[in-house]
Amino acid sequence: MEVVRTIAELRQHTSRWRIAGQTIGLIPTMGALHNGHLSLIKLAQGKCDRVIATIFVNPRQFLPNEDFEEYPRNEESDIQKLIEMGVDLLFAPKAPEMYQPDASTTVVISKLTDCLCATSRPGFFDGVGTVVTKLLIQALPDLAIFGEKDYQQLLVIKRLTRDLDIPVEIIGAPTIREADGLAVSSRNVFLSQPNRETASKVFEILKKTATAIALGNDVLAACKEARTELILAGFSGIDYFEARHSETLELIQNFENSGRLFAAVWLGPTRLIDNLEIKEYRD
Ligand code: AMP
Repeated sequence: MEVVRTIAELRQHTSRWRIAGQTIGLIPTMGALHNGHLSLIKLAQGKCDRVIATIFVNPRQFLPNEDFEEYPRNEESDIQKLIEMGVDLLFAPKAPEMYQPDASTTVVISKLTDCLCATSRPGFFDGVGTVVTKLLIQALPDLAIFGEKDYQQLLVIKRLTRDLDIPVEIIGAPTIREADGLAVSSRNVFLSQPNRETASKVFEILKKTATAIALGNDVLAACKEARTELILAGFSGIDYFEARHSETLELIQNFENSGRLFAAVWLGPTRLIDNLEIKEYRD
């Protein structure tokens, strides 16, 4: 697997593959690779001739008070994992390759971004939208795969590629979880042992609430109860725990067969997000 740092080198590879008639899948990541990332790569390998992974901790999607400096970075072990997976190319640019000092353009998504993480992290989706647009234009892949773990992000990216006529298929992939249900995330390394145990309650409460709603319980009351349970379980804060429409992200008050629960919670300094389709879950 070759590691390239510049857009010019990336394009040398992609043009060669395109001339040879090969299809290309792109997996954008911020590194600190885990089984969630690796599942996206596997999915892409089943659909494309060539798979490119990208690693770029995008400064534009962190607020000034967020964990950009502390975000886990371990490129050497990431490269090892990508080689073992048989990835064709890693594009790992440094910030100056992505953003000129006088960069003046931002991709702003106006719908789907008036709720959930857009509210708790203002400017976050401008950063995501801009970097993903750039990566897609740089690589021009046939498809790009994103995790449902970041469900709002997945919808935003589908919307922006449609609106900007970027010729790429955006595919969503299911959330990979630890044995106790915690969604795998690069930020889980920040959890202390007791917090790691509490963290699994998010999925437990999501499942319980989804089942209650699917069985006909009142949506708002079920979410309110879930928020109380989260606080009782030891979470230090809740950005949101809400039921929303799976495509429009509008709040739902009645469950009519297309809905999802969305949660963002704090355990000390660590923010965890997760989401789950509303249906009955039996253990
Ligand atoms: P990140 O490195 O956190 O920006 O994530 C890169 C990609 O991996 C995004 O498309 C995420 O949605 C996806 N991803 C992160 N965690 C998981 C997970 N547990 N299961 C599946 N995909 C994930």
